[in-house]
Amino acid sequence: MKVVIAGASTSGLFAAYLLAKAGVEVEVYERAAMLDPAVRTLIVTDKINEVLGFVPHEIILNEVKHIDLFSKSRSSKMELGRPDLIIAREKLILMLARMSQEAGVKISLKRRFLSFASGQNGVAVRYKDLETGEDKREKVDYLIGADGVYSAVAKAASYNGHLQTALLQARIKLPKEVSRDTYQVWFDRERTKYFYWLIPESDDIAAVGLIADDARQAGASLKSFLAERGWQPLEYQSSKVPMHKYEYSARVKEVSPRVFLVGDSTAQVKVTTVGGVVTGFRGVRAVVEAILQGKSVGEESRSLKRELDLHLLVRKILDGFSDADYDLLIDFIEGQLKHVLSTVTRDDLAMMYLRLVASQPRLVMLGAKGLLRGIG
Ligand SMILES: Cc1cc2nc3c(=O)[nH]c(=O)nc-3n(C[C@H](O)[C@H](O)[C@H](O)COP(=O)(O)OP(=O)(O)OC[C@H]3O[C@@H](n4cnc5c(N)ncnc54)[C@H](O)[C@@H]3O)c2cc1C
Repeated sequence: MKVVIAGASTSGLFAAYLLAKAGVEVEVYERAAMLDPAVRTLIVTDKINEVLGFVPHEIILNEVKHIDLFSKSRSSKMELGRPDLIIAREKLILMLARMSQEAGVKISLKRRFLSFASGQNGVAVRYKDLETGEDKREKVDYLIGADGVYSAVAKAASYNGHLQTALLQARIKLPKEVSRDTYQVWFDRERTKYFYWLIPESDDIAAVGLIADDARQAGASLKSFLAERGWQPLEYQSSKVPMHKYEYSARVKEVSPRVFLVGDSTAQVKVTTVGGVVTGFRGVRAVVEAILQGKSVGEESRSLKRELDLHLLVRKILDGFSDADYDLLIDFIEGQLKHVLSTVTRDDLAMMYLRLVASQPRLVMLGAKGLLRGIG
């Protein structure tokens, strides 16, 4: 059996590694000329260890044990039961590339996926060899699209692309008043309906960022936020991130029985925080299991879809929040919610949601109000 994967980044290389380890012949097409991923500071929950199946020590820059939350007139400090991990995306990609090559994966650079034709017994994949300019075809058993937000595999399957949001981060010198083991989140409705964050990478460096509906707005808001605090940007990291939607398939998208999509190519992103690494890996596990067992994607993909849908509902609620609602939310957190929030990770939102509502029923009213305004 041979599987072609389009895209040599986090999702594609993790899929390649798992399949090759199970004895499958795997080739990864990557359009770039070399594996030299852009530096990007990421924060993930420790669920990454469970999903990867090991602790990726070499990519961990820092562990954070506390969160400081700020609204217009309130603040709260929370201790996390299980620290979040600050990781370097470029190290994650190079680690997965090395592991997959050791497991026998062939990574073909300068190879751009163009289109596919799917039949009962296989998939004909068309690609451009960017070295020679030639169009070529290869017949394989399965194709996995892991080619990111502008996925050519998704387009070849007649999908119309995703809703997108702009994510912008600046690396700065870690401010003296911020401790290395604490990350900070600010809710400020005038500037963003999402939030600003500061993630300490080391004793010296932190990443400060925000999500916005478009890149220009993100740039202007981040610059004024940094200037107000006297923080100098050392460099910027930015890109578009796809946003999950309810109608994006009830499962990991199966565009044909032999073609699958994973990661950003099918918007496996939590729209509350725009985190896509762990959810992309969960999508990979579901697809790998389906390929190895020769069947449709199963419970893991349904549970991922439920989780992503719940994040979308929470996003719609938060979209309707005013600064006063965030103040109230922080009051609730200072009350009985701290314990729940510190024991359940963002990657288990369904569980967190049930426990939150049980411990603070007035949250339902606050949520309903936000939802009405958010969709109104
Ligand atoms: C600034 C920033 C900060 C972020 N912070 C976080 C965070 O803190 N936590 C978190 O969980 N997530 C975060 N994310 C989101 C996360 O980075 C993405 O969800 C994740 O990296 C997606 O990985 P992927 O492998 O699915 O896609 P990508 O990383 O986009 O990879 C797609 C790959 O496909 C290749 N490719 C594209 N088209 C073709 C083609 N036609 N043929 C062959 N190859 C092709 C590309 O060159 C690329 O290598 C952040 C994103 C940004 C932009």
